[in-house]
Amino acid sequence: HADQAMYSAKAEGRNRFHFFLPAMQQEAQTKMILTNDLRLAAHRGELSVHYQPILDLEDGRLEKVEALLRWSHPGRGEVGPQVFIPLAEASGLIHEIGNWLSFQVISHIAQWQKRFGQIIQVSVNRSPIQFDQGDALWLKQLAGLGLPGNCITVEITEGMLLKKSERIQQSFLDYRNHGIEVSIDDFGTGFSALSYLKQFDIDYLKIDRSFISEITVDESDKALTEAIIVMAHKLGIKTIAEGVETRAQHDMLRLFGCDYAQGFWYSRPVPASAFETILGRTQTEDGSFFFHRA
Ligand code: C2E
Ligand code: MG
Ligand code: MG
Ligand code: MG
Repeated sequence: HADQAMYSAKAEGRNRFHFFLPAMQQEAQTKMILTNDLRLAAHRGELSVHYQPILDLEDGRLEKVEALLRWSHPGRGEVGPQVFIPLAEASGLIHEIGNWLSFQVISHIAQWQKRFGQIIQVSVNRSPIQFDQGDALWLKQLAGLGLPGNCITVEITEGMLLKKSERIQQSFLDYRNHGIEVSIDDFGTGFSALSYLKQFDIDYLKIDRSFISEITVDESDKALTEAIIVMAHKLGIKTIAEGVETRAQHDMLRLFGCDYAQGFWYSRPVPASAFETILGRTQTEDGSFFFHRA
């Protein structure tokens, strides 16, 4: 291993040798240390769930929200999920963390229901590896609190559907039986075969931010987004636009008939307490939440 690294480093020139190998080792070491820290993070209260509202584009109603993990590391500050989720997956910690997250989310849903008399549907991201463990634990927790299955939406990326289709198909059947909905996250960025859209029973496509960010200036992104929405609707699937940051993007997505949207334009992901404040501020007389943006 090390020999190989040395060999290729040497091949790249003498000067890089001193720099290349230690950098590789350092990265591996940092990953190891971070993984160890992550093992303790949940117990130390360093993990938290942030919530980002998902808006109904037709009427501005807020009835969905995405749960996003946050890790506040005592020495390093905020470590992003793009960094620690892969570590959690590689180490198997994702099971424990995923269970912790489900527990938090389900307790929050119950809490909000108590306080506001409404059920907020929470989208939870699920790693491919988590399907190995099955869903019995959190399904039991949901049932124990008397909450309906449709208060949870499971988000998975399209690549997963190609990899482990039998196991996932079984999970999907369980979801269907429990009323749990399924979203395809980051749609359009994987090497997707569209055929999976007819194989699996999918409720939502989340159109990736990379299409949305240039939607008002790039003709291809605009065309692709519009086509994805039309295609999804013909298949009975709803669409959610990710990463809406401007009024112009919002207006265009509405024009295209996109069903839902999420992004900094409406709200950044916020801690549970701040999300409760949003709920309190936007609830109308009939109990619904209408998200007004100035
Ligand atoms: P994702 O599921 O696609 O989540 C959306 C990401 O886009 C979030 O990043 C969110 O903060 C960010 N975002 C939302 N609106 C905007 C916007 O208008 N502009 C920009 N620039 N960004 C926006 P975050 O929270 O850093 O999460 C990154 C990824 O980490 C997530 O992508 C998801 O794949 C993964 N992740 C987060 N929490 C979990 C989790 O609990 N479990 C698993 N398996 N993965 C998670
Ligand atoms: Mg997601
Ligand atoms: Mg996404
Ligand atoms: Mg469907």
